Amino acid sequence: MVRVILKKNREDALIRHHPWIFSGAIERVEGELPVGATVTVCNAAGKSLALGAYSPASQIRVRLWSFDPQDLIDKRFFKYRLQAAIEARKDLAASSNAQRLVFSEADSLPGLIVDRYADVVVCQFLSAGADYHKPLILECLQELLPCRSIYERSDVSTRSKEGLNESSGLLIGEEPPEHVLIRENGLSYQVNIREGHKTGFYLDQRDNRAMVASLSGGREVLNCFSYTGGFGLAAMAGGAKSVINIDSSEQSLQMASNNAALNNMDSECFSVMAADVPSSLREMQNAQQSFDLIVLDPPKFIDNKQQIDRGARAYKDINLQAFKLLRPGGLLFTFSCSGLMPDRLFQKIVADAALDAQCQAQIIHQLTQASDHPVSLNFPEAAYLKGFCIRKVNTADGY
Ligand code: SAH
Repeated sequence: MVRVILKKNREDALIRHHPWIFSGAIERVEGELPVGATVTVCNAAGKSLALGAYSPASQIRVRLWSFDPQDLIDKRFFKYRLQAAIEARKDLAASSNAQRLVFSEADSLPGLIVDRYADVVVCQFLSAGADYHKPLILECLQELLPCRSIYERSDVSTRSKEGLNESSGLLIGEEPPEHVLIRENGLSYQVNIREGHKTGFYLDQRDNRAMVASLSGGREVLNCFSYTGGFGLAAMAGGAKSVINIDSSEQSLQMASNNAALNNMDSECFSVMAADVPSSLREMQNAQQSFDLIVLDPPKFIDNKQQIDRGARAYKDINLQAFKLLRPGGLLFTFSCSGLMPDRLFQKIVADAALDAQCQAQIIHQLTQASDHPVSLNFPEAAYLKGFCIRKVNTADGY
């Protein structure tokens, strides 16, 4: 097998089971091999340490499959890893028939995402190694997951960093319906797995939707960046008096309305607004509107380190505007899905926003991604979603 020899003293991360080898840590590659094929990673003295997938176009030159250099990266290997990941999600079946079954590095399968939506399985092959082993992985998935279709959604720009083209379409089974119907915490949602965001739905917000439901009773709710209405529907199910959903995408809002109808929700209480969130928040202040519960779940504002400052300002602005619209005693659910946004910085941004809005506020819950998006202790980078449930303190009573 082709050997990748590390520079002297560059094996520390590997010893701690971090699954990435950066190009700068590599002394030399002995031999030639196809993109994504398996290499043995050795320390400078030539001792074999691990096995991984070679990706010559990427800064992450090797993604490690196994820390046992004697392993074989074959069908048995993938079947074992996939089965372990699927088994670990069994306890979720009671709350939903839509789950992330494989979460890449966090499930020791770097670059592979597998999501299940009822009887349709959607995969993303995001690394050279996952792509190289696609036929084997698909064979294993067919054996492990009886399903109607396996569909690919590898249409993400990060593939280019691995030298791969974007790719999507049916891989196995029947062409899936335009909308796949899923159930989550007693609600039905239509999911567009062909064109929807990610693989169709924000599975990572499942627990946070449940929390919004549990705190929505009798409240007037504003759901910003609503996409297909996830938080809005949850709020209605939790007894909200009304929900306004804002998103810039008409298509997503149409699905939000469809989802509301699907769950027999009163369309007078559940409304959608195609608009830009920051502008709408300002217009609503001008119109003297206010709310008892606001959700801010924006898209990723930060894609690389150069964007941190600009992203921070964008987060601060929407949080500031939201605090101004929130009634005393109201709740703000605010999120950042930017992995590059540090937890403490996000908290500080929200604190600054509250200060500028001249309100006292308390974090009552710290929020994160759902348990089917686990974070391996050796790979903290998998923790990307952060959020707070914040209560605006009623300052009228002499705070
Ligand atoms: N909260 C959703 C997911 C939000 S994804 C859920 O739980 O399902 C982010 C959404 O923000 C996308 O639907 C996108 O269309 C929308 N969006 C992006 N920029 C926007 C803007 N400036 N104003 C309004 N919506 C925006």
